Amino acid sequence: MKNPNDRQGATVAAKAAHFLDVHSGAVVPEIQLSTTFARDDRYAPINAANLYSRDQNPTFIHAERTLADLENGEECRLFASGMAAIASIFYSLTPGSHVVLPDAMYWGAKLWIHDHCRRQDIFVSEYDTADASTIEACVADKNRTNLVWVETPSNPMMHVTDIALAADIAHQHDALVCVDSTAATPVFSQPLDLGADLVVHSATKYLNGHSDVLAGAVVTREEHALWEALSSERSMAGAVIGGFEAWLLLRGMRTLFVRVERAADNAMQIAQYLEQHPVIDSTSYPGLPSHPGHAVAKKQMHGGFGGLLSFQVKGDAAAALKVAGAMQIITSATSLGGVETLIEHRHTLEPAENMIPENHLRLSVGIERVEDLIEDIEQALVCV
Ligand SMILES: *Cc1c(COP(=O)(O)O)cnc(C)c1O
Repeated sequence: MKNPNDRQGATVAAKAAHFLDVHSGAVVPEIQLSTTFARDDRYAPINAANLYSRDQNPTFIHAERTLADLENGEECRLFASGMAAIASIFYSLTPGSHVVLPDAMYWGAKLWIHDHCRRQDIFVSEYDTADASTIEACVADKNRTNLVWVETPSNPMMHVTDIALAADIAHQHDALVCVDSTAATPVFSQPLDLGADLVVHSATKYLNGHSDVLAGAVVTREEHALWEALSSERSMAGAVIGGFEAWLLLRGMRTLFVRVERAADNAMQIAQYLEQHPVIDSTSYPGLPSHPGHAVAKKQMHGGFGGLLSFQVKGDAAAALKVAGAMQIITSATSLGGVETLIEHRHTLEPAENMIPENHLRLSVGIERVEDLIEDIEQALVCV
């Protein structure tokens, strides 16, 4: 399905909420590094939007408007990292709340959320990431759920969760739905249009796209009590982004569509190559018809399936690590969403209970020439 808005999205991103500065003629927004803003002789702020950069800063506003528009949301708040954005939501829940999490999700978030909720007497249930209908049993169980969390496609196992179904079930129980859309990006998915109430991004990844900024964002469909609470959490507790980082993020977002479309095209070709390779046990990419979540991904993503994929080599951890180590163009490193292709062995990093198979490798596919990437993978797989 082609998103009728996608051309508009590419234009929104390229323009980055900036209209020609009539004073300077500059075609890019200025970077505002001031931490504080002056008042006039009657002690009124010279610009009421700007008091102190822990609350708000003109450079954040450009980036926030751009991302809110890309997600078809009302408002956006930037944070110092993806984790700070996620944490702001959970800090805003009161003791006794109930949250429903996917059983497979970004490990750093899962670890922190469980820890935080334990300390704050917030109840946590888990559903099967690959089957949103299992949310029903979790919410029916408590009957006063506040928040359902979705991450799709999930990192690093590439499970797909049906956002519309998750939102349907959650809303029947008056719970809000938040989607971590870091892997899908606003190029391919608008969770708010599918019924989600909030979207979070690790803007460190595709939104910035150059592996040189830590940033996070929350976008809301409309203002509500939780939104007010998490906005105030940002300015009061101060998990705020810097002016320079916000400006770099804006710069990155201007090329979002070309980067992400190219990465997704490359990822599709690499997935097809891996799927037929004799030393590969399995390849997981939502764009492959063999992926169990393909039909749902096709329904809720438009124009592509993202730049992340994973595969399992025939053999054990040593075989997988040998493949990663043999790459010449592709770099072994954590993180994702940059213009350069990275390979990661999550089994080395995550504890055993997460059940990441030892022969599992995750690729964050970049924007290099795809023939070069496939050649690199081919020569590395010879060692299996
Ligand atoms: C990286 C990541 C995060 C955390 O973001 P940081 O910017 O590293 O704090 C959250 N969710 C997903 C899906 C991620 O990939």
